Amino acid sequence: MFEKLPLSLPSPLTKINDPVIDSAGVELWLKRDDLIHPVVSGNKWRKLKYLLLDAQQKGQTHIISMGGPYSNHLHALAYVGKQLGLATTGLVRGFHRQPSATLVDLKTWGMTLEFVSREEFRQLRQYRHWDDLPAGQYQGYWVPEGGYNPLALKGIGELVSEIDTAWDIIVTPCGTGTTLAGLIAAMPTGCRALGFSALKADGYLDREVTELLAETLLEKGVIADWSINHDYHFGGFARQQPELNHFMTWFEGTHRVSLDPVYTGKMLYGLWEMIKNGQFAKGSRIVALHTGGLQGRSRA
Ligand SMILES: *Cc1c(COP(=O)(O)O)cnc(C)c1O
Repeated sequence: MFEKLPLSLPSPLTKINDPVIDSAGVELWLKRDDLIHPVVSGNKWRKLKYLLLDAQQKGQTHIISMGGPYSNHLHALAYVGKQLGLATTGLVRGFHRQPSATLVDLKTWGMTLEFVSREEFRQLRQYRHWDDLPAGQYQGYWVPEGGYNPLALKGIGELVSEIDTAWDIIVTPCGTGTTLAGLIAAMPTGCRALGFSALKADGYLDREVTELLAETLLEKGVIADWSINHDYHFGGFARQQPELNHFMTWFEGTHRVSLDPVYTGKMLYGLWEMIKNGQFAKGSRIVALHTGGLQGRSRA
């Protein structure tokens, strides 16, 4: 089904060498899912794969989903839809007199856009399964915000099995928590998963991850070693602070890896602080997932 979407898989695993890491006595690797494809960024592809296969199996050729005006998820979906010849509809939060560059791309790729109020947007979050949308209003295959669905976890699991070095801790930024849930579900016993929340959502995100794991019938998820660090959202979703920008500029210049300020920048800032402060046992081998997200970067 995906021949028209050439992807570079498996994605590379690169070691980050730095005096900070050395003196903490740990190892840090980056799983470069940002390099899978120039448009379809990392975790968004991983999450979409099995949802699209499921839609195909059900004979559905129209995919409907939701997201904000800078949504990496809608961006990936619109592009994939165009490449694979699927009709797509995006339900976008808010009304935009001046469309964002992301919205312009969505239109260019043929996604039908419908703008919904914040209240309606919140309502849409209750629809979790592919045929949950009110009949009569929409006809198609529904993908919840951020791909929040057990099928998305399967795609994330594939990246875990690509990692060909021994590791102890896997780290990811969190928006809906779907990616983290996928890592937890797929990680070998004895490993630990750590998420960094990109938004101010203390208990909420933890509940979402727990629920998704339960839905996937992974009792393992309940006892698995995982947690979410809520200390590095920098004021909330898509909010930025000078020290975050400062760190990103330094990291990008020193380690030659582009970051985005919404997700991967915050994760690495937080991870770097934890490493510096000795919060990981000596000898820990850490794999941080670069989830992509660079499309919104220069344009948000
Ligand atoms: C969407 C996104 C996330 C958040 O993923 P969830 O599975 O929703 O937690 C993280 N990083 C990037 C770059 C993203 O685009």
